[in-house]
This record gives sequence, structure tokens and C-alpha cells, in this order.
Amino acid sequence: MGAIMSPMAGCCETRGHDIIRARLVFKAAVLNTPPPLARPHMAVLLWALILSAIMIEFQHVFKSYGRARNILSDINFRIGAGEFVFVSGPSGAGKSTLLKLVGGLEPPSRGAISVNGHRIDEMPTRARPYLRRAVGVTLHDTHLLYDRSAIENVLLPLKVIGLEQSVAWTRARAALDKVGLAGKDDFNPVEMSGGEQQRLAIARAIVNRPAILIADEPTANLDHETARRIMEVFRDFNRVGVTLLIASHDKSLMAHYAARTLHIDNGRFTDVQGVAV
Ligand code: ADP
Repeated sequence: MGAIMSPMAGCCETRGHDIIRARLVFKAAVLNTPPPLARPHMAVLLWALILSAIMIEFQHVFKSYGRARNILSDINFRIGAGEFVFVSGPSGAGKSTLLKLVGGLEPPSRGAISVNGHRIDEMPTRARPYLRRAVGVTLHDTHLLYDRSAIENVLLPLKVIGLEQSVAWTRARAALDKVGLAGKDDFNPVEMSGGEQQRLAIARAIVNRPAILIADEPTANLDHETARRIMEVFRDFNRVGVTLLIASHDKSLMAHYAARTLHIDNGRFTDVQGVAV
């Protein structure tokens, strides 16, 4: 059983190997080193294995806040490893709520949620750090810390897991480089544009090399060109096997990037190829 599976009991060994392979490919992309694949047909086999793993699964999920009506009602879907999926719908439809359920930031009121092979609705508090590593999250508000530099913001998740300092700095620099912020290590986030702050938040979300990345309206309030650049950053991560779930209401961006959309409107949930109309 691989090291990344060790915090959890009862997980499937095959899926564990799939995830370890996905992480190897992802690591190679972040550090700009080639993945350890000797032959091209092995790469094809590996890619098929990665795509066959289910990364996110909702089974009869309901969510209400307190005694209010259900925001999400009997939601069922599966997302495979390496998929790029949008969540769309009008404001207040429940897009952020769905992402928070995937990231373990809110518990479901009912139903089963599996992420990266683990039932997170049954996950004990002590296993939460595992989820933090498996799922990178960028919320609508970037939650950057303005009392420290860009690289110190990116280092935070690595400090939490106690990574050795020199390794952590190397990884944080690689993450900044990956989102196009090389050389901006010492900038304070307030000195950065909206698009740069979004990219900084993405660097912080991916520095732990998560298998899944969720982003809530990452292009809100950005001009079209900057929004496209941010989406290209996501696409780069997707190309190396990271599973993406992005909430957005920007139809033109989704038309360009969406292969699949989970649409929520007035309690109605649809799962469509391409963009929901
Ligand atoms: P969206 O992301 O599509 O705009 P949200 O998931 O943020 O929608 O919100 C869906 C509904 O849930 C809204 O009516 C919102 O007011 C309500 N809501 C969201 N978070 C909370 C919360 N923590 N407590 C109570 N109600 C909430």
C-alpha cells in the first residue's frame, strides 16, 4: 500500500496504485521533469488506468443549511480521474455548496460522497488532513494573507504538513512558476493584479500536488483575456491528469473549455456533455 493511502483504512489497492501513478505524472509536470515511463505504450496504458479511476462520486446527496429547504436534492453523479467538469447555474443555485461538499468544507445533510476513493461523509476529523492534500481548493474569495509575501502564502499548506524547509521552498517556487508568477516570490499580494492574485491562489491550491482541484468562480471580476489565461493554467493541470471541478457562470468561457457541465437551477440538477443551455 502506497504512502499516500496510509492514513485511511479500507481502501482499494488498485485505485491506490492508480492515484499514485496520477501523482507521479502530476509531480513530473510541476517539476518539469519527464515521468518515469520507459515505453510509449506504457504511457497509453497508464493514461487509460488514470482515466478509469472514479475520483468524485455523489450518491443521493441532499444538502440544506439548518432547517431551510434543500439547496441540493438527491444529487447523483460520478467524475472520473482526469475529467474537466464545470458547475453552472444562476447565483444562489448551490454551485459553491456543491464544491464545498467535494472539498469536505461542508457536510452533506444526507447521502454518500466519495472523493479519491474515500467516503468523506464518514471521514473522522483526524483524517481531514488527508483530504486537504487530495483536494486543492480555491474559493471565490481567494483568502490570501496580505501580511506576507506571495511565496509565503504558497508555503502555508506545506508548513501545515511539516515538509522540510528547503524542499518546501523548491516546491513553492515550482508552483509559482507553473502559474506564470516566477520572479514574483517577494511581492505582497496587494501589489498584484486581480488575475495575478487568482493565479497565486491556484499556486497555493496545487502546491500539495492534489489529485483533484476545485475552484469557485476563479475568473469572476476578471477581463476576458485574463480569464482565458487563468483557464489555460487549469487546462495545463488537467493535461497532466488533475481532475478539475470549476464553478462558473461565464458561458463564453465554458463554451470554449467545457466537455461536461453539472447544471443546477432552482433545485433541478442536470449532467450534460458540453455546456448546459
Ligand atoms: P451559488 O454558488 O450558486 O451562488 P451557494 O451555494 O453559495 O450558491 O448558495 C446556495 C444557497 O444556499 C443560497 O440561498 C445561499 O444563501 C445559501 N447558503 C449558502 N451558504 C450558506 C450558509 N453557510 N448558511 C446558510 N445558507 C447558506
